[in-house]
Amino acid sequence: MAVGGDDVSRPLPILRWRLFMKGRKMSAVNLIGERFGRLLVVDVTEKSHPKKGHIWLCHCDCGNDIEVPTSRLTHKITTSCGCLRKELARKKMTVHGYEGTRLYKCWDAMKRRCNDKTGKWSKTYKNIIICDEWLDPKVFIDWALANGYNNNLTLDRIDNTKGYYPENCRWATPKEQARNRANNKYITYNDKRRLFIEVLEEHGIMPGTKEYQRAYYRVYKLHWSMERALSA
Ligand SMILES: [Zn+2]
Repeated sequence: MAVGGDDVSRPLPILRWRLFMKGRKMSAVNLIGERFGRLLVVDVTEKSHPKKGHIWLCHCDCGNDIEVPTSRLTHKITTSCGCLRKELARKKMTVHGYEGTRLYKCWDAMKRRCNDKTGKWSKTYKNIIICDEWLDPKVFIDWALANGYNNNLTLDRIDNTKGYYPENCRWATPKEQARNRANNKYITYNDKRRLFIEVLEEHGIMPGTKEYQRAYYRVYKLHWSMERALSA
């Protein structure tokens, strides 16, 4: 059965996938044939990386082709070849009834931090991206209201090295945010640069426990070394 257009000459997705996977030891997630916003995944590329995952060839509805890694697709970070971003940038992004609200300002501030190329945010937010679907303030605000937003909370990225997308964001109290920033902070332990949270977890100390709070207090308030904080 012909699929139509260019696809007639291509092997069926499952066959292409088997050919690609032959002799490879990789996670076997197959996105060929799946749609993410404007992108239709049509093939897997040879650039696929065992740790970083696969790189997929996608057709955008506007006619462009683009190569996108798995996580950017599954987290809906990339949902077009870039045409969506351009369109949204041209449009005046306002949501009736929300302009001037705290949530709208929060969305606006997130965008300003990430789009800052030369100012005070440029260094910290250089590689931090906002997922395509949140470029629309309405989608962001709907997500916020459905995911525990209230006026006492601020937007927090769970993993500070990663961007703004639903799976990496939550509404947190300022206290939780400070703790999260600490978790993502690097400290020196046994002469190695390590993540604070990682070292604690290796010692069986989980977030939220008394031991955790004690270690946090010692390292961040008393400025003890990590070794001392863990031994005493
Ligand atoms: Zn496009």
